[in-house]
Amino acid sequence: MINNCPNSECSKFQKNDDVVKDGFFKRSCDSRKIQRFKCKVCKKKFSRSTGKLEFGQKKRRENPMIFKLLSSCVSLRRTAKILNVSRGTVVRRLQYFGEKSRIQNEKFKTLNLKNSVEHLQIDDLVSKENSKLKPLSVSIAVDAESRYILGVEVSEIRAFGHLAQRGRIKYPKRINQHKEGLTNLFQGIKDLVKEDALIRSDEHKFYPGFIKEYFPVAKHEAYKGEKGCIAGQGELKKTKHDPLFAINHTCAMLRANINRLVRKTWCTTKDPQRLKDHLDLFICYFNSEIIKDSNFVPTQ
Ligand SMILES: [Zn+2]
Repeated sequence: MINNCPNSECSKFQKNDDVVKDGFFKRSCDSRKIQRFKCKVCKKKFSRSTGKLEFGQKKRRENPMIFKLLSSCVSLRRTAKILNVSRGTVVRRLQYFGEKSRIQNEKFKTLNLKNSVEHLQIDDLVSKENSKLKPLSVSIAVDAESRYILGVEVSEIRAFGHLAQRGRIKYPKRINQHKEGLTNLFQGIKDLVKEDALIRSDEHKFYPGFIKEYFPVAKHEAYKGEKGCIAGQGELKKTKHDPLFAINHTCAMLRANINRLVRKTWCTTKDPQRLKDHLDLFICYFNSEIIKDSNFVPTQ
């Protein structure tokens, strides 16, 4: 297969009729022999990696393992230790996998889940950025029947409860972005949910307005929050029958498999965007490896 010219200034951009093979080179990071191509019009030389997210990566043979470890409750530092790479490499790979998983997840949703969700459940999970005075809200949507995670959004919120006062004094500029986060979440799932779907959630005051706006004919059932049980990271509830089991179980899975979300952990998020990357990476792993859908090709 001959690749297309990646040079956007070339008249043959994205076309391969004037591209020829131009020998090989040895890629130093994994000692593989790589085919080089050349565009006869702009004389640019390139390989299959040119323009891809992996371009220029050095420890690429560690990628599959980093992907698995980061979705299995191993911290960034421990991943680096196990694989004998630097922590910086793992941080950069987290960003890379976040980006790649977002593309992969989006592709999977548009190809397989369009207008198919009959029972949607939504909820918010609270985490923190460095300090409990800087909480983050993770809004999640799942398909209760297939159990796919349809979307997550991370938004900054203000400290609440008995920390509200201290939060206001210490971080007066912190704003509440929860509504923006929910808007992005609903924008991302609006094409996946059937018109007359059943939507279940807790009694959060923002949900009814969003559900009315995005799914006007859907049936919304709101349930009172229940007490959490010890198993399941406080997310599974202490009742006989939990109508929100799908979303609560998904939240428990997130808490049990993403180290920074584990309760009472000493791993914390320093940058909300990295939490988003980590969540997108986990969704990719969860939808492909744990639910095991044959349509889903894992990111590797
Ligand atoms: Zn060209």
